[in-house]
Amino acid sequence: MADRLLGLTLTWFMTLLMTVFTLAMPVSGIQVSCSSGDNGAFVSSTESFNLDVSSSLHEQLYLNRGSIYQDRQASGAGKNSLTQSISGKGYSLQNDIASEGAFGVSTSSAATAEAASLSQEVSGAGSMNLALSGTQGSREAGQDAGIESGALSSAQSLYVGQDAAIASQSTAMAGEEGYVGTGAFSESNAILAAGSFQGAGILQAQLSVAATERAVAGGEASLDGVAWLNENTFQAVSLESTGMGMAGQRVVGDGVGTFEMSALNLGPGEQREMGEQRDVSEPAAKESGQAYQTAVQTAGGSSSSYSLTGYRLNSANPVQLYLNPANAPSGMEDPSKTQAAIAAAANTWDDNVASNIYVDGSVVIVDSSKVVDNPLSSTPKRDGFNVNAWWGLGNNYLGLCRWWTNGVKVDGYYSIIESDVWYSSDKSWTTDWDTAVSTGKIDLQSVAIHELGHGIGMGDIYSSTYGGTLDPSDPRTKDFNQVMNLYNGPQRILGNGDLAGAQKLYGQPGAGPLYCMSAPFTTL
Ligand SMILES: [Zn+2]
Repeated sequence: MADRLLGLTLTWFMTLLMTVFTLAMPVSGIQVSCSSGDNGAFVSSTESFNLDVSSSLHEQLYLNRGSIYQDRQASGAGKNSLTQSISGKGYSLQNDIASEGAFGVSTSSAATAEAASLSQEVSGAGSMNLALSGTQGSREAGQDAGIESGALSSAQSLYVGQDAAIASQSTAMAGEEGYVGTGAFSESNAILAAGSFQGAGILQAQLSVAATERAVAGGEASLDGVAWLNENTFQAVSLESTGMGMAGQRVVGDGVGTFEMSALNLGPGEQREMGEQRDVSEPAAKESGQAYQTAVQTAGGSSSSYSLTGYRLNSANPVQLYLNPANAPSGMEDPSKTQAAIAAAANTWDDNVASNIYVDGSVVIVDSSKVVDNPLSSTPKRDGFNVNAWWGLGNNYLGLCRWWTNGVKVDGYYSIIESDVWYSSDKSWTTDWDTAVSTGKIDLQSVAIHELGHGIGMGDIYSSTYGGTLDPSDPRTKDFNQVMNLYNGPQRILGNGDLAGAQKLYGQPGAGPLYCMSAPFTTL
């Protein structure tokens, strides 16, 4: 490569060799490769660095008969990329670090033909993306983490070899957007956990995974000091082969941000696809859908302004919604008003699609015995009831929806088997339209439409400018006529995009379902 100022290729087969190199000069590309063998078994290592003029890197590389040891320190600013691959007999390890802004990395690894282990500490300010994974045969363990416009620090380790792949990280970050994820794949199952946020937030996670005969995971994750995943969450999804997703709205300054957390335990076949299917964006609605829209009142906007999560209610059984009125905030003590608001919100979706999504015109049953499942509890269990309830989510949250899937796909959509909605008891709410308009109190019915929308498979269409999930250049993000956009005042009818998205999932009224409602699936 013409732009490579310094290139090294080292291939030695020696009893003992130590090499030290220090870089403190502008380097646009450098590659270091070496391998070491003993009795016909080899281990190989390749590293590639693209370093900013301000960055320096110091590495010690020891080669022994059949083994490679590395000790590396790098730091600097600007744009930097460090990648590392180690492979041996039936295994491989991949370590990618990319940053823009100040960074520091300290990595140690040891590898033989049979196994490799790596541990490192990474920190950065600005933007940073980390990905570390190992595969051994069909077993894989890995993790990633990243931040935009913020700071991140992470201690990571990885072991691969001897029929196992094991990864762990302890990561803390604060910034405008961030994510953390971990996953393990085995012959019998896959387990994945991920969290992300948009809009200023603080994310902390200690996560570990192992892939042996079975894939297992443990640890915890919190956002803004509120724990969303812990050991009990992993236990809950592991007890039955299932998954759990959450999406919520957060109050960020004057705007609204989002967050998502998920934990999945899936059988073979579903696993790879499941790990990649978040944030499904769908093209514009069919023309027939647009024709129907002229017949109903909508809030307008584009019929392209929707996004689907990749989940759907695939069961023939309509959903019964429950309201647990406990812990209602001031002004919301009358459960009949809350019940009416949520029922009206449910009807807003029900009335505009072919399928009967909710039971009997979305009657919400007030029942204090039905609670929102809390996978953080010591007895985690999905109870099968779709509950709306109040919860002290703190001042940062308006509400959130959490849905569960059994991992069974129908027509390309994972089956939602239960969803619960929390409304923040720490916010100021109203069920009265005029009050919402005149006082700025949050209209429960409007937020319920949005949160129940997640429960039927509708995704957020916020711009990341407002702390949302979509690229700001995406025209959907500017379409504030959609209820699945951010809450900026009461809106109790769907926009054209909300309508098109819901009808793509559940068909048009009078047109019959677009999919087979009786498709068999395992009810858990
Ligand atoms: Zn949302």
